[in-house]
Amino acid sequence: MENKEKSTFKNLGLSEKILRAVENAGYEKPSPIQQMAIPSILKGRDIFGCAQTGTGKTAAFALPIMQMLDERGNYPQPMQFRALILTPTRELAEQIASNISVFGKGMDFSICKAYGGVSLNPQIKILANGVDILVATPGRLLDLFAQKKLNFGGVEYLVLDEADRMLDMGFIKDIKKICTALPKERQSMLFSATLSTEIESLAKGIVRNPERISVSPDKPTVEKISQKIAYIELENKFALLEKMMKARISKQDDSLALIFCRTKHGANKLAKRLCRIGLNADAIHGNKSQSARQNALNRFKRRETRILVATDIAARGIDVKDMSLVVNFDLPEEAETYVHRIGRTARAEADGEAISFCTTDDAHLLRAIIKFIKKEIATLVDNPYHSDSAEKASNLKTILSNKAQSVAKKITQIADAPARRKNGGKTDFSGRREKSTKTNSRKKFSEKKIGGVLKQKMKRASSKDFQKTHGAKKSIWSALKNKAGKFKKR
Ligand code: ADP
Ligand code: MG
Repeated sequence: MENKEKSTFKNLGLSEKILRAVENAGYEKPSPIQQMAIPSILKGRDIFGCAQTGTGKTAAFALPIMQMLDERGNYPQPMQFRALILTPTRELAEQIASNISVFGKGMDFSICKAYGGVSLNPQIKILANGVDILVATPGRLLDLFAQKKLNFGGVEYLVLDEADRMLDMGFIKDIKKICTALPKERQSMLFSATLSTEIESLAKGIVRNPERISVSPDKPTVEKISQKIAYIELENKFALLEKMMKARISKQDDSLALIFCRTKHGANKLAKRLCRIGLNADAIHGNKSQSARQNALNRFKRRETRILVATDIAARGIDVKDMSLVVNFDLPEEAETYVHRIGRTARAEADGEAISFCTTDDAHLLRAIIKFIKKEIATLVDNPYHSDSAEKASNLKTILSNKAQSVAKKITQIADAPARRKNGGKTDFSGRREKSTKTNSRKKFSEKKIGGVLKQKMKRASSKDFQKTHGAKKSIWSALKNKAGKFKKR
């Protein structure tokens, strides 16, 4: 009901000017995160906002901030800025600044981008006069601060986009430094597709009594992404990729694919290999100059290159229209990253496909991903290089039933221990050396003792991740009960 009432931008409390901005962007209807966040931000609330990838979080914070900046009408003082938007990558800072420029067409906002890898001077020059909105990465921002080219005194609004990334090990120190320098009286907003209670507690010093807005918190990945796993061994990865890419191009000549690799070197090598077999590919990673990075992304956005091979610098925030396939050539180390990587496709309600290569060695990463997204991922059907070993290693049920079998085997050994000893066994079940088969009578391996070990094993079997897979858990319990039953009968 509430959603229906709010299902136009007009009903969210946006001004005429901002409604024109929305029109400029070609948006007809607000997305759920926009419906929920915009009115609260306009009321002055701090926000802790979580919504799936590609659902319009940028406009959810940018539009109300622009409206409030406009209505308050303050002028920025020299070297100051009224709204500070922090992002983890330079490319995302560039993209958000360009979104804001589109929204702000016809409005009189000054915007500055401050990120590393490019000359400081143009940034210093723009900041010298003061700006309304500064979009920055933390490193360059602190660099300019240390050089006394800016001060934080004029900040009215703070946004941490990709907030969980901004509060993780790589950035938290910088963010803390920045936040101590910011005015206490400000409105702060945190947004991401993956926010946890852990992040919430890290964010305590940044937001004040925030409103928690969560769109589909139980489903971190967008339904429209068709996710598949290709179980494969390392040496076959390239052959499968080649087959997939060639098949796609023959069907859909202009389709775009983004391929993620774990390392910069790996990304470079893969792009070169793809070029060698006649596929139009480019690479984006942190070892390239900033202009090479931005050029690679721009050519991809303009569809001049059809395949972009990337490291995780392109995992978050980047918005490429009609980018229909993400390939995880290497699985990411962190499950959250999987959500962000595949979220580069199926944006703004479009369709998309995500295919992840999983080797036997990477099976544990896949298990962590499945646990995180709370969803099974189907196996890629058309895979001539299918690896049974990788599939088995990734299958939680197989692992659990293997564990069950080994527990059952142990119990059989325990139950059989007295008999084995009679037959000249040398060690008892706890690994202690026996003095002699005679002195170690059945009494020593009393039912009570074996029962104690059995109990321990059963307890262990029911703890940890065992509890999560009912089928496997059941099989463990029945295996254990079986063995215990046999033992009692003795
Ligand atoms: P997120 O930050 O949630 O991942 P973005 O803000 O980058 O998503 O938006 C994803 C895409 O959806 C962008 O291309 C953006 O222009 C578009 N978009 C955002 N809001 C709307 C809307 N209300 N209607 C149509 N398209 C929208
Ligand atoms: Mg975003």
